[in-house]
Amino acid sequence: MRHSAMRAGVLVMSAALVLAAPATAGTLISSQRIAARTWHNPCDGRVTLRYGSPPAPYVGLTRWWITANGRRYDCRVVVRRGLGRGLTCTVVLHEYGHLAGRKHSINPNSVMYAPLTRVDHRCLRVLKAR
Ligand SMILES: [Zn+2]
Repeated sequence: MRHSAMRAGVLVMSAALVLAAPATAGTLISSQRIAARTWHNPCDGRVTLRYGSPPAPYVGLTRWWITANGRRYDCRVVVRRGLGRGLTCTVVLHEYGHLAGRKHSINPNSVMYAPLTRVDHRCLRVLKAR
C-alpha cells in the first residue's frame, strides 16, 4: 500500500489577533473540542495538538499521513505559542479542516480562507473562558 505525507500551514494578517488575551493550556483543550465537533472527528478522533514554533511566517502547521484508500493517520497540529486565545482556536479550527480534507477557500468568511484575518465565530466563547 502506498502512503503519502501531507502538510499545510496558515498565516495570520492581523497583529491585533496575535496580541489579544493570551492562550492557556485550557484554550487548546477547548479549541480541540470545537474543531473536532465542527469537522466530525477527523483522523478517527486521534489528533496530536500542541503549542510549538512552526517555521516563520506560519502560525499553525498540520501534518498527516494518508493511505492509498484515503484514511488519514498520525495527524499532528502545531500552533504557535503566545497567540491570542481566539486566534489559537481559529488556527486549530483551520488546521482540523485540512485534516478533514478541506482545502483553502477563496471566501474571506470561511475559516479555510488563508491567511486568517479574524477570529472565527465558533471560537468566540474561548475568549470568555478563564
Ligand atoms: Zn491552511
